[in-house]
Amino acid sequence: MSGAHFAFTDRWGGVSAAPYEELNLGGAVGDDPEAVRTNRELAAKTLGIDPARVVWMNQVHGADAVVVSAPWGERPVPRVDAIVTAERGLALAVLTADCTPVLLADPVAGIAAAAHAGRPGMVAGIVPAALRAMTELGADPARIVARTGPAVCGRCYEVPEEMRADVAAVEPAAHSETSWGTPAVDVTAGVHAQLDRLGVRDRQQSPVCTLESGDHFSYRRDRTTGRLAGYVWLD
Ligand SMILES: [Zn+2]
Repeated sequence: MSGAHFAFTDRWGGVSAAPYEELNLGGAVGDDPEAVRTNRELAAKTLGIDPARVVWMNQVHGADAVVVSAPWGERPVPRVDAIVTAERGLALAVLTADCTPVLLADPVAGIAAAAHAGRPGMVAGIVPAALRAMTELGADPARIVARTGPAVCGRCYEVPEEMRADVAAVEPAAHSETSWGTPAVDVTAGVHAQLDRLGVRDRQQSPVCTLESGDHFSYRRDRTTGRLAGYVWLD
């Protein structure tokens, strides 16, 4: 794939102390801000990108996407769950600990997007919103490459029966059952169904379930914990 880069971190290789050990990249989870800053620099260095050219979001489980052409700098970080750019070399980052990180890129048009799709965001349509913002900038779904990262899987994400029904009414592909036989939601399956319906065929899904993996942060498992990051950028 010429020009498009996708990366997902795990929890190792940073400086945060327990319960955020080691590579917590989330700035709003109670960790030492200095440790988070160092971790973001370490992660960027590992990826070969400039930490000053990474754009983060103030994620709120909503369905708003915003176009960005430079890091926020002194401006307030917007409360959105997807960021889209036509700026090559600008990296977009999404923070998660069980929610599904969604990275999208049309390397031909030079358009990239990062989206945070938890259960509420997936249901609200954050992924279609990100895709719409991309196509408005000239991206073509037939050329878009989609990668979803480590997330809680559909066999672990237990929800009340009524919640499963509400989610499945919007996105049937997200209907799931836990490995112990109770109602569940598969957010990542819902995301892929939405992308498929909108014409995005080049898709891959991380095999990692955050709740089952000791190498990843999981909010449902640990409650007070760090955040993983997904990064997308174009050369
Ligand atoms: Zn699982």
